[in-house]
Amino acid sequence: MARYTDASCRLCRRESQKLFLKGERCYSTKCALEKKNYPPGQHGQGRKKVSDYGLQLREKQKAKRFYGLLEKQFKNTFVKASKRKGMTGENLLIMLESRLDNVVFRMGFASSRKEARQLVVHGHFLVDGKKVDIPSYEVKAGQQISVKTKSQDSPKFKEIRDMQITVPAWITVDVQKLTGQVVAIPTRADIDTPVAEHLIVELYSK
Ligand code: SF4
Repeated sequence: MARYTDASCRLCRRESQKLFLKGERCYSTKCALEKKNYPPGQHGQGRKKVSDYGLQLREKQKAKRFYGLLEKQFKNTFVKASKRKGMTGENLLIMLESRLDNVVFRMGFASSRKEARQLVVHGHFLVDGKKVDIPSYEVKAGQQISVKTKSQDSPKFKEIRDMQITVPAWITVDVQKLTGQVVAIPTRADIDTPVAEHLIVELYSK
């Protein structure tokens, strides 16, 4: 499965924004943005003027990187979003938010979306009791996500049982049982991802 393997912090520096790609490190003073809050590369500190196209492109790149998708995966999601009823930009964000790897991250079972993706691929999660190892799986309202019984005794998941986890309103979690439920599909208002989705729609509409 294709995935981005270069340095994660470079992506945040390119977007001049925390994308929270490295778990706990992102919340510490070790975060690269604390020291170098400018784009990487030779001209990183020189770039100033941004065209409309540049703004649209950056917004798309930011969203893509936030959710850990490659270009083709992101474009495919956009195409599917555009075929659904409602506003394409909102549909896009809702679909990205409903991905199984994102839901696992939002439930607090992983410290980053990248880790969530890895845990899903390794088959640690069940959706309504059935193993699902596809990060892009779209979780529906009412579905239950749980850690596979065999995986529950691993140090990673034992640690989670002692944690205080805050989840968004559309999700409930029982950390002791290592299960959670998507009680409703998120609305745009529930999604705190700092992305101006209309710019992405403008970009792909050209
Ligand atoms: Fe981004 Fe996290 Fe690296 Fe900070 S530590 S630059 S938030 S990936």
